[in-house]
Amino acid sequence: MSEYPDTVLVTGAAAGMGASHARALAKHGTHVCLADIADATPVVEEIENDGGSASAHALDVTDPRAWARVVEEIRKTRGRLTGLVNNAGISRRLEFLDTTDEVWEQVLRINLSGPFYGMKAVAGLMRDSGGGSIVNISSISGQIGYFSPAYSSSKWGLTGLSKSAAGNFAKWGIRVNSVHPGLVETALLAGADSFVESAVASIPAGRMAQPAEITEAVLFLLSDRSSYMTGSEVTVDGGLVSNGLYHRILAETGGDLA
Ligand code: NAD
Repeated sequence: MSEYPDTVLVTGAAAGMGASHARALAKHGTHVCLADIADATPVVEEIENDGGSASAHALDVTDPRAWARVVEEIRKTRGRLTGLVNNAGISRRLEFLDTTDEVWEQVLRINLSGPFYGMKAVAGLMRDSGGGSIVNISSISGQIGYFSPAYSSSKWGLTGLSKSAAGNFAKWGIRVNSVHPGLVETALLAGADSFVESAVASIPAGRMAQPAEITEAVLFLLSDRSSYMTGSEVTVDGGLVSNGLYHRILAETGGDLA
């Protein structure tokens, strides 16, 4: 039997990291339900052409009724669900006073309310399926101070929401953990060239991550290999949070530390 869940729903799976997680899961024999506000059919076709099993589901994560419909589609077609990756998210790199109320609400709705509605919607079917694993894609912005208040608050909220859900769902054999990527090369950072260039100077690994490197952490948390992990935070950031400050200081002082 596979160490991976047999049926996993991935949100934001039409592009970026979500598509990477979906492709990798399908290679391990998992049926992947790709949900997105955008059309996920091209990624589904790619997976199927590669011999994998997948389905596309239209979903705006901010809409609880849409969540209920998608879970019902999965219950009807697959009969079970043993994994969820709450990956859909948006970023607005705005400082505090530039953050309009509309931006604040939109980011919180997608990045925090979305996973809340999602976990509520899937919990019953995952319980009836014998349990499983939920992975919430937070960010290092949900672990440290980050200049953009809406994004940072949404990701800190998701960090806490994951721990709350982990406690609540343990009785059903559902584990919940959060993944905290640093900078990952996806469309989310498109057009932010000077931000990225400057940020990379603080990353001990010396570069951004590729989506596949985040996928490895997600696969681990979905699999039985992490059977004793729940309520945990997994940071995948090339050392940015733990060592970014002194990495930059060492580089800027050129080793003149006296
Ligand atoms: P991306 O922009 O490449 O992809 C995001 C996907 O989410 C898109 O397919 C988009 O259509 C979908 N989406 C957006 N709003 C949605 C909604 N309301 N309902 C359903 N789907 C929706 O982004 P990415 O870089 O792959 O980011 C994935 C996750 O990783 C996000 O939660 C993001 O905050 C997080 N993250 C990204 C980085 C990074 O550097 N790229 C770093 C840390 C965390």
